Amino acid sequence: MGYTLSEEKIEKAIEFHGHTCPGLAIGIRVSELAINRIGIDQTASGLCVVETDMCAVDAVQFLTGCTFGKGNLVHRDWGKAGFTFFNRDTQKGFRALFNNDFRRNDEKEDPDNNTGKLMQKVADKTATRDEVQQAEDMKAAAIARIMDADLDDLFLVEEIKAPPVKPARILASIQCQSCSEMVMESRMRRFDGQDLCIPCFTKKEQKV
Ligand SMILES: [Zn+2]
Ligand SMILES: [Zn+2]
Repeated sequence: MGYTLSEEKIEKAIEFHGHTCPGLAIGIRVSELAINRIGIDQTASGLCVVETDMCAVDAVQFLTGCTFGKGNLVHRDWGKAGFTFFNRDTQKGFRALFNNDFRRNDEKEDPDNNTGKLMQKVADKTATRDEVQQAEDMKAAAIARIMDADLDDLFLVEEIKAPPVKPARILASIQCQSCSEMVMESRMRRFDGQDLCIPCFTKKEQKV
């Protein structure tokens, strides 16, 4: 059994992201899981923590309504395909991790990583026209495989009982003593008796 979101919603998510790709497909499916399982569908009570900043996050923002600007999307820079959703109305939530077994099948079929080498050639613009076509076909097949899979096969899901992050506190702004720009106090650095923003701190630190 494949995806259950409407074609129209999926088309709009692709439009928002700017292209279609396997990463976006993962984001579409994990959003579908959040919508079906705990009702995160543009509700203000949705909360999401993403452990990656890859393409998938655009689908999450578009389809679940959890966005950086609203403050109910938090990025943890861990480089994992992990997505935690929480509904603050019902106090239900889960963490979904993209199932590595799903990927591993690809590795078994392609032990020399020919796919990776081909994609690199396309990125470096050294691929022939046939190779570009081959890469496009493979990408389309990977997307179809993700869209057609059972959600149970795609993600390892673990229930959570409490919100994954504390509500944002209102923080004061302090002036950087080097560039004079205003900075949220939690982002200030102290150096040589001065309160500095991160770029000014980095500059001074590198001079020492
Ligand atoms: Zn993408
Ligand atoms: Zn500064």
